[in-house]
Amino acid sequence: MMTGTITDDQARALAHLVAALRPGWDVAGIRSALSSARHRAPAHELAIAAIRCTQGDARTPAVIAMDGPHWHTPGASTTTAPSRTEKCPEVGHGSFLAWNCGACRAEDLAADDAQPTPTTTPDPERAAIAARGAQQVRQALATARQETTS
Ligand SMILES: [Zn+2]
Repeated sequence: MMTGTITDDQARALAHLVAALRPGWDVAGIRSALSSARHRAPAHELAIAAIRCTQGDARTPAVIAMDGPHWHTPGASTTTAPSRTEKCPEVGHGSFLAWNCGACRAEDLAADDAQPTPTTTPDPERAAIAARGAQQVRQALATARQETTS
């Protein structure tokens, strides 16, 4: 189950769903509200909260990002998904939220960087061309030096 911050693709799909459920709210406004609220809760909770807002009498989707009853999830205590305030269980990550752990993301990025870089073997043909070019430059410099010193 995805428990992280909502992705752009998810937010786009959710905005269209919310707009379909609530005629009069434009997709751009919904996207803006989802963007403002994206760090309030994991993606699935944000989706539920946004959909709950379509049932209210708010005139604009800005209500999605505001405090309100739409954030209270009945039955949340029976789910196994991390709550909004649960900390990351990894050692040393205790200051990060489980669903939005910067340390886990940093470790993932570091792991990506640790991939061995492909070894580059010089192309013998290109090396020969470069060597010939270097030799021609040396000769030209030597000739120029002789002309200036003689
Ligand atoms: Zn973590």
